[in-house]
Amino acid sequence: MTIQWYPGHMGKAHEQISELIRKIDVIIEVLDCRLPASSANHLLAKLRGDKPCIKVLNKNDLADPAITKAWVRTFERETGVRALPLSAKQHREVNQLIKLCRRLVPNRGKPEWPVRAMVVGIPNVGKSTLINTLAGKCMAKVGDKPAITTSAQKIDLHNGITLCDTPGLLWPDMSDQVASYRLATSGAIGASAIEYINVGLFAAEFMMQRYRELLSTRYKLTDVPDSAADVLEQIGRRLGCLAAGGGVDLQRAAEAFLRELRAGKLGRVSFEEPGES
Ligand code: GDP
Repeated sequence: MTIQWYPGHMGKAHEQISELIRKIDVIIEVLDCRLPASSANHLLAKLRGDKPCIKVLNKNDLADPAITKAWVRTFERETGVRALPLSAKQHREVNQLIKLCRRLVPNRGKPEWPVRAMVVGIPNVGKSTLINTLAGKCMAKVGDKPAITTSAQKIDLHNGITLCDTPGLLWPDMSDQVASYRLATSGAIGASAIEYINVGLFAAEFMMQRYRELLSTRYKLTDVPDSAADVLEQIGRRLGCLAAGGGVDLQRAAEAFLRELRAGKLGRVSFEEPGES
């Protein structure tokens, strides 16, 4: 399966993002904590040059804590960029980000000379949620389209920081098929009906390999079957996703399973670890 991404937008988005980056002091790169490599845009490191950057590992509440720690260490060791796991919905956690922004740009941070920050990231990683929490009110539209803003307004956060009111939208690397499946599993990219079953099978296989216990606990499987198709079928039965003849409707089963997995119903799960391709 090839999951398509929006062709044509990239060259333009590339230009716009470099232009925006020139006018800001610190980049807040939002990644999905459960898949920090696959949810990154690998051109950003080049586009930002030596501008300070913070990698926010968002949706920390859904990710496997031990793997998150490993990611933080890896990012700091390999890129020298500070990685901050948090939940964009939690004010207390987001406040740490404010402190870090000020620390990274020590020569600014005064009302007349504020730190200018911008949130960037691929769709669905929580950029709008983060902007809204930082601003303390609803500013950014949740669930925006694949295009980036050119006329970003500045929000004064009244703490020596101004923030672009809309996020810079980046695109994920879709040339890597495993990364595409991880993105689809997390819900960052959509999938058509037929692809949904494939994504469900991928997720079932992943959970069988890495989080067998979570799978058997959630779906009360005394013996977790050895094939992803059988796992998905059993999950479908548990969740009541039946077709007219009494068999399992695999598409509904895949949708229901992915919905539960994404929402953390099975427990805290990370879809990739540092060092694996
Ligand atoms: P954007 O496309 O990057 O702007 O992402 P949104 O801010 O629209 O968030 C995408 C989805 O992720 C929404 O359903 C949010 O409620 C959810 N979300 C954002 N941040 C978090 C978080 O820290 N934890 C959890 N569990 N969900 C989050």
